[in-house]
Amino acid sequence: MALYEIQHLNFTYPNHNAPTLKDVNFSINHGDFVLLFGPSGSGKSTLLRHLKQEVKPVGTEEGHILFEGHPLSSLSPHDAASRIGMVFQNPDQQIVLSSVYEELAFGMENLGLSPSEMQRRIGEISTFLGINHWLYKNTHELSGGQKQLLNLASIMTLYPDVLLLDEPTSQLDPITTQNFLHILKRLNEEFSITIIMTEHHLEDVFPLVNKVFLLKQGTITYTGTPKASLMRL
Ligand code: ADP
Ligand code: ADP
Repeated sequence: MALYEIQHLNFTYPNHNAPTLKDVNFSINHGDFVLLFGPSGSGKSTLLRHLKQEVKPVGTEEGHILFEGHPLSSLSPHDAASRIGMVFQNPDQQIVLSSVYEELAFGMENLGLSPSEMQRRIGEISTFLGINHWLYKNTHELSGGQKQLLNLASIMTLYPDVLLLDEPTSQLDPITTQNFLHILKRLNEEFSITIIMTEHHLEDVFPLVNKVFLLKQGTITYTGTPKASLMRL
């Protein structure tokens, strides 16, 4: 069964007279690594936010968004928080605490995990991501790239099925961008985490993904395997 199934999704912001998403249809399977790309203003961010109930934009919506065959809106708050993780463009937007360790524990505390399990997962994930050496720093001491890794690590401690990322590297330098994208690929390959991202670094991301969706003026005009010719559109 598909992880996500989007059927005839239309969406209009309250202050707009034209829809931002027009008859969007697609399915995403467990383990897919999907790039959503297209011109600025085509609706990528709006569409991505529809895949997580808590960050959905307010407006008029028609159509169906199914998660494992059931309406996304019917996921329990616990499952919605743990199974679907989201990383935003601005690394500072998601960091709420001043200690890296506390920041990593925050989401798990909200889900009611025991202190020993929290500690185990922080050790596990920080080793995987190679961030152990700054666990005891303050979050304001971190660079933009480190903050973005911290956001990713916080989500990973919840053992998500899906990661949604909205232009996650747009504020990172080229080397940090490569490192971040490489980590996403490892999460996808080693834990079968489904990844759905928007990115404008097409030449860096095309080689990593198995599926691309091209969005133009709110309509998907191509879904399929990444082909070099698409990068010139
Ligand atoms: P992209 O991510 O492809 O750049 P967006 O989804 O951000 O596109 O924007 C698509 C359209 O929706 C644009 O016309 C944008 O101005 C509009 N839009 C985005 N967010 C909002 C909002 N919160 N309220 C009203 N209009 C919005
Ligand atoms: P559980 O039922 O405890 O969630 P899983 O079969 O999902 O168990 O995971 C077993 C082990 O695989 C975990 O203890 C962890 O080491 C690793 N693992 C699973 N999912 C993830 C993930 N999303 N990120 C990191 N490690 C994971």
